[in-house]
Amino acid sequence: MAIKIAVIGTGYVGISTCVGLSDFGNIVVGFDIDDNKIKRLSSGDPVIYENGMEYYLKKNLETGRLSFTSDFKVALKDAEVVFLAVGTPEREDGSADLSQIKSALDAIAEIIDRPLVIVTKSTVPAGTNRWINDYMSSKVDENLFEVVSNPEFLREGKAIHDFFHPDRVVIGTKDGKENPIMRDIYRSLYLIETPFIWCNWETAELIKYASNAFLATKITFINQMANLAEEMGADIHKIAKAMGMDGRISSKFLHPGPGYGGSCFPKDTKALAKTGRKVGVVMSLIEEVISSNETQKERMIEKAKRLLENNISDKKVAVLGLAFKAETDDIRESPAITIVKGFLKEGVKISAHDPKAVENFKKLFPYVEYYDNAYDACKNANLVIICTEWNDYRNLDLDEISRNVKEKKILDLRNVLDPESAIKKGFVYEGVGRKGVN
Ligand code: NAD
Repeated sequence: MAIKIAVIGTGYVGISTCVGLSDFGNIVVGFDIDDNKIKRLSSGDPVIYENGMEYYLKKNLETGRLSFTSDFKVALKDAEVVFLAVGTPEREDGSADLSQIKSALDAIAEIIDRPLVIVTKSTVPAGTNRWINDYMSSKVDENLFEVVSNPEFLREGKAIHDFFHPDRVVIGTKDGKENPIMRDIYRSLYLIETPFIWCNWETAELIKYASNAFLATKITFINQMANLAEEMGADIHKIAKAMGMDGRISSKFLHPGPGYGGSCFPKDTKALAKTGRKVGVVMSLIEEVISSNETQKERMIEKAKRLLENNISDKKVAVLGLAFKAETDDIRESPAITIVKGFLKEGVKISAHDPKAVENFKKLFPYVEYYDNAYDACKNANLVIICTEWNDYRNLDLDEISRNVKEKKILDLRNVLDPESAIKKGFVYEGVGRKGVN
């Protein structure tokens, strides 16, 4: 029997949850307070750029298993399960802002009249699902609802793949025992033998934070090694490759760069550190990761200034790549933001290109010159900075760049170019963790 599900919040995670769960055969209604988003989703426009999303959205809209509404009552009308996929952004003090969760709970409490499973898909600090349970109990009969934690691990850019082929599914319940309705919702994953971790709420919440914090730590580690490699004349790629060959280490997340960004790692590391402090367990390693990541971003600006010989007034910088990583249009906490902000502040002219993220970046920086083509963005630039590892930049025609730029200087923050070829063509080239220059 198909399970009837409401998904509250249709951002990157909510839309993936909507199309994924409806594709599994469930009946899903997506709700969002953003009316425009709902209109676009209903017409088959995924709103975000995510590989394969449009296909699965249209497919499931056509089957009638998936629909969207901006009327909360309609979304909840027949629902047996409601997934909370709203944002949990960072507050000024680094803690997670749970106001979107609270307003979704208030709306549920107002209309709940039969048993409902409330599933928290948003990333929330340890203790939040227990708080949700207490909060709802203070408003409605506790026999009317059950709280389940089901953190999401998908990667932007690979959201569809990750939803259908997760490494594991984590489900936290009050007593840590299996929940039959959650098992039914994910029955398609049981068929492909996806591992399920059943645990209590706090364990599920901390699995999510521990995973993101560990990955952020791995990135920060290799960035610090890259900085050392630069000074010592070593090649970070060979170091990372050899390290990754050790099965205990694994080669993933050992790519040096300008510091991690995105909608998850920065806020989740800070929220984890905050949770630790709240209960008197100082997460000193994570706190160091957070500050080292900021230093890494600043270091990139210093590198750029050095390449401009610290004489930056009247200079023009071309920024290639605005998204926080390739294959997404998401610019939240993108290293490009730090770089563009840093230069604009000093009066440097910025031209920019990105295959998918320009519209989002324009909302933050309307006065940057944007181009549809990377070569046009490089016209008259004194320095070209590659900020995102889009495949489009791996095979840039350096002759064409040479013809366009004012000065032949490239700062490759993702190490996507071959330093030797760039230097051979007369560029001053600098990457991260391997000495280039000419
Ligand atoms: P998002 O900002 O893209 O989407 C949040 C959506 O919720 C928006 O569309 C917003 O309009 C809507 N919303 C806000 N308040 C609402 C309310 N009261 N009722 C209904 N809708 C409301 O966020 P996201 O990137 O999808 O992240 C959602 C959650 O999932 C966060 O907790 C995030 O940490 C977590 N997460 C994100 C990712 C990722 O890669 N983006 C991966 C794993 C987990």
